[in-house]
Parts: sequence; C-alpha cells; structure tokens
Amino acid sequence: MNYFYDLLDDFISLLFPRLCYGCGNHLLRNEKLICTECYVVIPRTNYHLEHENPVAQLFWGRCLIERAAAFSYYNKGSRIRNLIHNLKYHGIKEIGSELGKIYGLILKSSGFTTGIDIIIPVPLHPTKKRNRGFNQSEIISEGLAAVSGLAVVTNALIRTTLSATQTRRSRYDRWTNVEGIFNIPDPEIIRGRHILLVDDVITTGSTIESCANELLKIEGVKVSVIALAYAVM
Ligand SMILES: [Zn+2]
Repeated sequence: MNYFYDLLDDFISLLFPRLCYGCGNHLLRNEKLICTECYVVIPRTNYHLEHENPVAQLFWGRCLIERAAAFSYYNKGSRIRNLIHNLKYHGIKEIGSELGKIYGLILKSSGFTTGIDIIIPVPLHPTKKRNRGFNQSEIISEGLAAVSGLAVVTNALIRTTLSATQTRRSRYDRWTNVEGIFNIPDPEIIRGRHILLVDDVITTGSTIESCANELLKIEGVKVSVIALAYAVM
C-alpha cells in the first residue's frame, strides 16, 4: 500500500512539481521548502563565534550593542537572498520560521542567546504590515522562539513613521530617514531586559541603530542583534 502512495505522490509531483525556494531545483519526497543542497552550501558567517565581527563593528560609535551576528551573506543571486525574497514578496512565511529555527539552534548551542530575556522583531509600520499581511522579522522570530524558548514581544516597540524605501539611499540619508521613527508605548514591558533585536537583512545597520537607541533609553536595557543575512556594502 505504501508503494502505491509513493507512486501517487511521485505522479502528483510530476504534475505539480515542488521546487526549492532557495535554488529552484525539484524537491525530493522528504524535503520541504529548502533542498538538502541549499542547507549544505548556504555560506555561514559564523559571526556568533566572533565578538568583534563585521556586523558588530557596524554599530561601533553609533549605539551600544552587546552581541551581533548574521546567519549568512546577502549577495545578488545568492540562495539566502532567494529565500528571503520568497518570504517577503511571495508570502511564503514557512521559510521565515524554518530559517529562524535553523539559526536559533546554532545560536542557542553556542551560548549566544544565554542571558537574553526576550526577542523583539524590528517592527514594520502598521500600513506596510497590513499591505504585506505579515512582518517577516516577526515570522523569523517565531522560529527562533520555538527552539530557544525565548518569548517574542511585539507590542513593546512600534514604528510610527512610514519611511520611503531604503534601497537607493546613501548611508547618511538612510540614517536621517530612520532617526526617531520608533516609539516605546510602555517602558515597563522592557525595563531591565536584555533584548534580542531580530531583522531579516542588515545592510547599513541604520534601522537597528534607530531601534536600539530608542530601546536603550529605558533603564537597564541591553540590546543584542541578529539577522538572517548581512549585505556587505
Ligand atoms: Zn535548493
């Protein structure tokens, strides 16, 4: 009987091929969303093992970040970029939670998350969230939470200004563009907490800087940062 179902499964795959969201190759029966090859070849930064890594250095002299890391590199045509693109623009949310789990396990086993109290995803402006239907950083955070046991807090930090797209701006423009656009409605939620800020991609670090500077105004707050990918400028 199993043989029959496998055959049926293969037949359905022929009609409706399931493709890997990272590389576009056909998925095998036991693969889901991301093929085994992508799991293996997506480059890891291993920044979580190195305190003074390039992502951490981005924030030097800008805001006090305890620990910073990114899972992979965001390059044109890279598999992680395809995955993040499918998550954000094609609404394949499962990719976000899957990558969040993969990275969460790495971070937890290395001790990176030790001492961290809560996870806060970088917020989208409510209008943007409504248009997209979700916040990708929140989805990634849910994956991280599932394996680390940390709670995701989404009501502590809100985005009050809808800024224009960041893609074609200079670093200075981006900085002025995100300065003072986040707000903390109830400081009690985060007072004295070590917060893990989560974003999908870190480029100049200006969005994280703006979030961190807002969070660090609250007494006893510490901030660490992670993203799925680091876009080397
Ligand atoms: Zn693949």
